[in-house]
Amino acid sequence: MSDVRKIPVMIPMLGEEEALAAADAVRSGWVAQGPRVARFEQEFATAVGAAQGVAVSSCTTALHLALVLHGLGPGDEVIVPSLSFIATANAVRYVGATPIFADVDLATGNLTVETIDAVRTPRTRAIIAVHQGGVPFDTAALRKAAEDWGLALVEDAACAAGSTAYGQPAGTGAAVAAWSFHPRKVLTTGEGGMVTVDDAELATRLRRLREHGMNVSAADRHASAQPVLEAYLETAYNYRMTDIQAAVGLVQLGRLAGLVGQRRALAAGYQSLLADIDGLVPVRDPAYGQSNFQSFWVLINAPYRTGRDEVLAELARRGVSARRGIMAAHLEPAYADVSPAPLPVTERITRDSLILPLHHKVTEDDQRYIVDILRELA
Ligand SMILES: *Cc1c(COP(=O)(O)O)cnc(C)c1O
Repeated sequence: MSDVRKIPVMIPMLGEEEALAAADAVRSGWVAQGPRVARFEQEFATAVGAAQGVAVSSCTTALHLALVLHGLGPGDEVIVPSLSFIATANAVRYVGATPIFADVDLATGNLTVETIDAVRTPRTRAIIAVHQGGVPFDTAALRKAAEDWGLALVEDAACAAGSTAYGQPAGTGAAVAAWSFHPRKVLTTGEGGMVTVDDAELATRLRRLREHGMNVSAADRHASAQPVLEAYLETAYNYRMTDIQAAVGLVQLGRLAGLVGQRRALAAGYQSLLADIDGLVPVRDPAYGQSNFQSFWVLINAPYRTGRDEVLAELARRGVSARRGIMAAHLEPAYADVSPAPLPVTERITRDSLILPLHHKVTEDDQRYIVDILRELA
């Protein structure tokens, strides 16, 4: 075999501009949360159609704060998809509430009004809905249902920067949305996250919660000519982002449209190359929106005759680093103590799907190489 390719599943797009921006932040002498974080918050919020952004250390901490904001605690049930990165369910346990797993739609991998309704109880207080791998959930339907039921809706938009629903950025109109800047996502700051809200009072509380409950930020205190005595209004957290990360984030934000355009073109390439392979169903845009294709997954159906794990192994042998599909939290040891209602679609997707390499270094030739292997295994 002469072809010795190495195709990673994801590579963050980081250039000299990010390196210079990080160096500038270091040289400025202000490396903790400061002016660059404030600018990144504003520009990110604008990009996703929200009034306010509150930068935090990760999407996991963003989700935690979103649940604290809603006052959730022991005895409260929060409906989440099991089919998600495990942080979605874990955040519920951080506040002492109980995650209740709901099933998802086979085509989008997302919660629907019906799957949520099926596990709703009198103790349900909130829903965390995930824009799965960048595929937007039906924002209009879920936001309306949550309102009708009197439930808080937290949107886990970890993967959704640059996705759209009903012609708007996926975060537009969300009461509370949580975002990730981990290198596996479309935009990265190394680690990092954001909470977006439209309500200024919620933003003030979030700013306090991420910074020890202080009524004035360390950056504002430092900028003031007069001594400022801070007060600690509640027991809170240190979930701050650094100015070094925000400097990188500001450069990344300028790349968002280009990165999403490129991902969508590569996704379309896979979709057309895969079209003639019976039994392989690539993820697609839903009718109401567009994915940023943060994850490009393929579901294996009959009559395709090779199992998912064998496909992954063969791809790996030929230098292609694919991944199992999105995980299901309820199948992990950490959740062995819960016995959810049956989740047949979740189990189907997590067992029979795989995520193909998609990033700025993937070429059309790489895509043909990958799909040729999949065709051989058909
Ligand atoms: C990646 C991811 C998270 C966690 O994001 P971090 O920034 O790594 O904490 C949460 N939810 C979903 C759906 C994710 O994909």
